[in-house]
Amino acid sequence: MELLKHTALELGAMIAKGEISSADVTDAVFAAIEAKDKDVNAYIGLSEELAMSQASASDAAADGPLKGVPIAVKDNICTKGVKTTCASKMLADFVPPFDATVVEKLKAAGMPIVGKVNMDEFAMGSTSETSYFGAVKNPHDLTRVPGGSSGGAAATVAAGEAVCALGSDTGGSIRQPASYCGVTGFKPTYGYVSRYGLVAYASSLDQIGPIAKDVADCAAIMDVIAGHDGRDSTSLNVGHKSYLASLKGDVKGKTIGVPEECFGDGVDEDVKRAVLECAKTYESLGARLLPVKLDFMQSVIPTYYIIATAEASSNLSRYDGVKYGFRADKINSVDDLYAESRSQGFGAEVKMRILLGAFVLSSGYYDAYYKKALNVRDRIIAEFGEVFGRCDALICPVAPSTAPKLGASLSDSMSMYLSDIFTVPVNLAGLPGLSLPCGVDRGGMPIGAQLIGARGTDAALLDLGFAYQQATNIHRALAGRA
Ligand code: GLN
Repeated sequence: MELLKHTALELGAMIAKGEISSADVTDAVFAAIEAKDKDVNAYIGLSEELAMSQASASDAAADGPLKGVPIAVKDNICTKGVKTTCASKMLADFVPPFDATVVEKLKAAGMPIVGKVNMDEFAMGSTSETSYFGAVKNPHDLTRVPGGSSGGAAATVAAGEAVCALGSDTGGSIRQPASYCGVTGFKPTYGYVSRYGLVAYASSLDQIGPIAKDVADCAAIMDVIAGHDGRDSTSLNVGHKSYLASLKGDVKGKTIGVPEECFGDGVDEDVKRAVLECAKTYESLGARLLPVKLDFMQSVIPTYYIIATAEASSNLSRYDGVKYGFRADKINSVDDLYAESRSQGFGAEVKMRILLGAFVLSSGYYDAYYKKALNVRDRIIAEFGEVFGRCDALICPVAPSTAPKLGASLSDSMSMYLSDIFTVPVNLAGLPGLSLPCGVDRGGMPIGAQLIGARGTDAALLDLGFAYQQATNIHRALAGRA
């Protein structure tokens, strides 16, 4: 299991030199899962046979720095022949007949897929407690949540049960669990990674990205998964230079904006302190810090929850018990078939969001809620544009607090939604966002700093994160590698 202390790139280099094989690492991953996952519950399903055969065949893949390195994949990303459940009873037995584009790319890069990681049902949540397959636990304290919705992806990397993972981020679901678990997570610019085969939650916000031990691993994974895809109509056709090769670690002359709204009331003192220290580190490395204002902050939660639920209500209408997914039995009419299959197949949080989404789209309320939210979204995009005219990046907390206790958020949805305040604006504007471990609170729980960049500045943002991780040790300490 010592092997799993290494980063994905270190393991890739050892495999390339012939010091170890892909099968050795993949074996070590399954041994770690066997030892630890009964406590953490990061996995919904394992694909051991497939992963071991991919490991043995990985030599044949095109050469790349991650060739042979195994990866875990969030269970809302379709894997051909391997169950993809979205952590829902609705899809508990769904076996996709095709691979998502990102999965095709992982396979082509010779990266064995060890299993499907746990999440909030249909990616709706911030704690990974709404999973039909049971809550995920935070490896730093098993009485706390790992964050969500990609809680399994972050927890498995933090627990050393996987080398790296793919998550998805609609309103923070890569960055916030990465922050709660003390690992690094990257949400790319909207359109940079194909959504083909990602089960849709809110299509105008969803984006797939990496969760790993450090920024360099995230950049290497981006090199594998980014790129134009004709099967995703929102995929951008831009040339992607190597993200890994762009890591230089030089921040001299960069201006980093510090939004004052992100350090006010409601943010834990420990979180403020750690994130401001991270900003100071940038200053000491040669960057200039610039106080900025983000006037839209007050409106981001309602705007996000109107748009996300509106899109979800439409995307989830396909689960009707007819084409695929859960079908209720002992049914007498078609209406009953729809009603019972959906009532029994979806959990409470998903149902609440479908109802909210249907409401904000209904005639009479459409203009007051949905249309207004779209207008506010435009203002958020414009205001970010103005700020990025003066800054290369922004720094703020990923979340106002560290990981709460299991069960604490389930009884208080409002405070759970409010905890997304610093992550959702990034999705509303389609920007890249990076979550970097930057300290621990007085209880020893990890704290994450978020770097936000203008659209398309993914390589520069990763480089900024890389500079911090070269100058500091916290990400290694939290991974037990210091
Ligand atoms: N917590 C947010 C939500 O529940 C974000 C989830 C996500 O990014 N998938 O919608």
